[in-house]
Amino acid sequence: MIETSILGSNINRVKVHNMQAVLLSLLYHEPAYRVQIADLTSLSTTTITNIIDELIAMGLVAENGVMEYSGRRGAGRPRSALHLVKNARFAIAVQFGVEIYRIAVANLGAEILVSHTFTFSRNARPRSIFDEITNQIEKIIVEENIERDRIIGVGVGAAGLVNYLTGVSTASYNLGWGDIPIRDWLSEKLNLPIVVDNNVKAMAVGEAFFGAGRNAGSLVFVYGRTGVGSGIVIGNHLLRGANLGAGEIGHMIIMTHNGLPCHCGQSGCLETLVSEPALIRQAEQAALENPSGLLALKLNSGGGRRSDLLFMAAREGDRDAIKIVEQAAYYLGIALANLVNLLNPQMIVLGGLYIQGQDLILPVARQTLHNTAVAGLGKKVELKATSFGWQAGIVGAAALVLTNLFYLNPEQI
Ligand SMILES: [Zn+2]
Repeated sequence: MIETSILGSNINRVKVHNMQAVLLSLLYHEPAYRVQIADLTSLSTTTITNIIDELIAMGLVAENGVMEYSGRRGAGRPRSALHLVKNARFAIAVQFGVEIYRIAVANLGAEILVSHTFTFSRNARPRSIFDEITNQIEKIIVEENIERDRIIGVGVGAAGLVNYLTGVSTASYNLGWGDIPIRDWLSEKLNLPIVVDNNVKAMAVGEAFFGAGRNAGSLVFVYGRTGVGSGIVIGNHLLRGANLGAGEIGHMIIMTHNGLPCHCGQSGCLETLVSEPALIRQAEQAALENPSGLLALKLNSGGGRRSDLLFMAAREGDRDAIKIVEQAAYYLGIALANLVNLLNPQMIVLGGLYIQGQDLILPVARQTLHNTAVAGLGKKVELKATSFGWQAGIVGAAALVLTNLFYLNPEQI
């Protein structure tokens, strides 16, 4: 939540800033040594020693063993290695989706220690669903024997539009909800700090701080499922935009003529071409036109996720299935090329539907990106699958807490 500011810094703010730099050095370069952290942060070894002593006293950092370090200031001399004590603090993570939510406990490394999945009916009252989430969180804290003062807070990644400043889910098209005060409802009973944000923005933060994007400098996470969204992290900063709307890649208009209507009110949006419902709609149409084809047989078999059946038919050589998947991968590649032309990120990470079918989608999307982005920029961007697989959402929810209330804002630790 750190925003750039032209306000001056007082001495306390400087201390918090230095603490942040040390914690991030330990997160990214573990194990590390005092002189190495001094090199990384450009802080004096005295400052580093004071901060590390404080962190050791709080049980957040430990020393183990002796290692050689041949950095700028410490040539060849043995140094004691420092590491974060990952299980010294915990984050509660809630991934809130359509008719399903997960609750997990993560440590300071965003490693998921416990995870439970629950379902709910979309006809249930939103308030009763969040009361149930509160009860389940309390139950997990008791069952896992977690000391309350070791819990940094609760992070919620929710689909749809979320105002992270107020913790309100302002619109969830897929549930037909609007203005759900998630943060207030949870904090009434939990008495823990609550951070609520959009689920894909949360995934981007998770990947940037704890996954493939560590030290990437700039990263865009693109997630496809019922909708298509993205999260943009530049430096340690999640780009939100002036009205919290940055990253709405699903509504980038690709087809300016004859595009299909999108729930946002426009036509021809990326989401109408590369979301899971878009692929399934095309697969069902092709199956109707060719009822004895492999794709129709797969879809009519009834077993499993329909997008999986489409990918399976494509892997087994069904021409209609291949065409549908390759066309979606092409449009995704076009959108990524537009993204690269605009932001030139170091890394693009894909999640959800695009990793479920990554063997089919990634090669075509990558080639399109290479061919389309200006001045060869597409060849330089790293395009990869999320480090966390199906756990990307829950890791992201944990990362909301770990970044906003620990690594980037270590005032209260
Ligand atoms: Zn749209």
